[in-house]
Amino acid sequence: MFKNLLCLFLILLISQTTSISQEVQEPSSQEEIQAGLTGGVPMGRWKEGLMFEGVRPMPWLKSAANWFPGTEEIQPDEIRVTFMGSAPMIRPGQMNTSIFVELGNGDNFVFDIGEGSVANYVASRVALNQIKHVFITHLHVDHFGALPYLWMFGTWAGGWHEPLTIHGPSGRTPEYGTKTMVEGMKMMLGWHRDAFSVFPVGKGHDIKVNEFDFRDNGGVVYEKNGVKIIHWQRSHAKDGASGYKLEWNGMSVVWTGDGRPNELDLKYAKGADLYITELQPELLEINSGVQGVPPFLGRYTVDTHHTPGYAAGYLANQIQPRMFMTTHMNFDPFLNEEVVAEVRHHWKGPYHFGAPDGIVVNMTKDLVWVREGILPDYPNSRAPQFNFDNGQLVVPHPPTSREEIQEAFVRDHEIDPAKYYPKEYYPELLESWPVNKDLVVPVEALPENLRQSMGADWRLKQKNQALIEENEKLKKENEKLKNGK
Ligand SMILES: [Zn+2]
Ligand SMILES: [Zn+2]
Repeated sequence: MFKNLLCLFLILLISQTTSISQEVQEPSSQEEIQAGLTGGVPMGRWKEGLMFEGVRPMPWLKSAANWFPGTEEIQPDEIRVTFMGSAPMIRPGQMNTSIFVELGNGDNFVFDIGEGSVANYVASRVALNQIKHVFITHLHVDHFGALPYLWMFGTWAGGWHEPLTIHGPSGRTPEYGTKTMVEGMKMMLGWHRDAFSVFPVGKGHDIKVNEFDFRDNGGVVYEKNGVKIIHWQRSHAKDGASGYKLEWNGMSVVWTGDGRPNELDLKYAKGADLYITELQPELLEINSGVQGVPPFLGRYTVDTHHTPGYAAGYLANQIQPRMFMTTHMNFDPFLNEEVVAEVRHHWKGPYHFGAPDGIVVNMTKDLVWVREGILPDYPNSRAPQFNFDNGQLVVPHPPTSREEIQEAFVRDHEIDPAKYYPKEYYPELLESWPVNKDLVVPVEALPENLRQSMGADWRLKQKNQALIEENEKLKKENEKLKNGK
């Protein structure tokens, strides 16, 4: 009885609430709707504020204010640029300079790999074995300091099938070129490489160098898959500093690296869609009090090596990009407004800081948008990403073993695991590599979680490639129809 009453009460309650929400009211007049919804805001009727045409968020962004790593797929026609390091002077909130460029066709490119920047790649959910091409503007260590770590741990974490390629300028003499730097790094990492050879390193340890002639202004450094990258000289106190322009899908991104404002920048960066240069504010004395750089040292460093804020604005105004960005600069409240004022002296167009770390740019032919990326302090690494085109995962056989690179003595003195593992928990130990040749696993034999996590990037690339091809086909058919008329 009580149950029935309760039911009746609930039914009454529900019918009551639904009848309220369904009550139809007299619609407001057209004028009232117009005044209510668009009062004071443009809604397409006029241009708002000082914003620029084509600078607004794309509809596919999960949040127009922030980028959360791992939540957005890059679109087939899109370029996404992330500032993984943004300062010449490393500090916890700003790693040394590194710019990550991802393309809708599945390719990605690293421009400079400054000290500490790998932490931001990891926080951005880039698997280190996804990085295959690093372009170094010059051999100041704030532009390549993370290379040893990237090379060694990128190889360990699945970089087995394709060696890392380092692109960089020659020096005036061979000893100052990128090739010699890499040879020196190989020597520095001699112990590490041999130690990591107990792992399935495959081709990962065969680093490649593409050293180009620094004087060959406008020369092509890279050309593949519709992507072209050229370089030119920059004036940075010593021969062998370069700027780069990447072109793909009718768009271009310029990263100048460090240097004094130069006619060559105007020539090669002219009309870039996204133009990024370094910037040093004209606040040498105040800045020295805050940052601890003696003013004469700051002044001399800027005037021989760097781009002052006013010059950055001047360059942008000559180059006329769709979006201008500055990086390799300290991000501090006392500096930020001054930096904007200096840039604005010449450049009135779209402008954002490429700092602090984690700033993300999305760009298509029509739109460009800049957001703050939310990079966690304690992220998890992304699973290594593999190409499953052959329908299999190959785990190369390790080149060496503990027995080969370690004398027995210290290994024989390892404490017997039975002494520290509880009896009820004694894992099967993997003390030597379990197979004696390459391990070849058909994709369908991979556990589901591994197939999903390690093939995510490969699947997105396939999806985007199919969309790109479909678009091309449509374009051609449209042209045929047009010509037929
Ligand atoms: Zn630098
Ligand atoms: Zn430098």
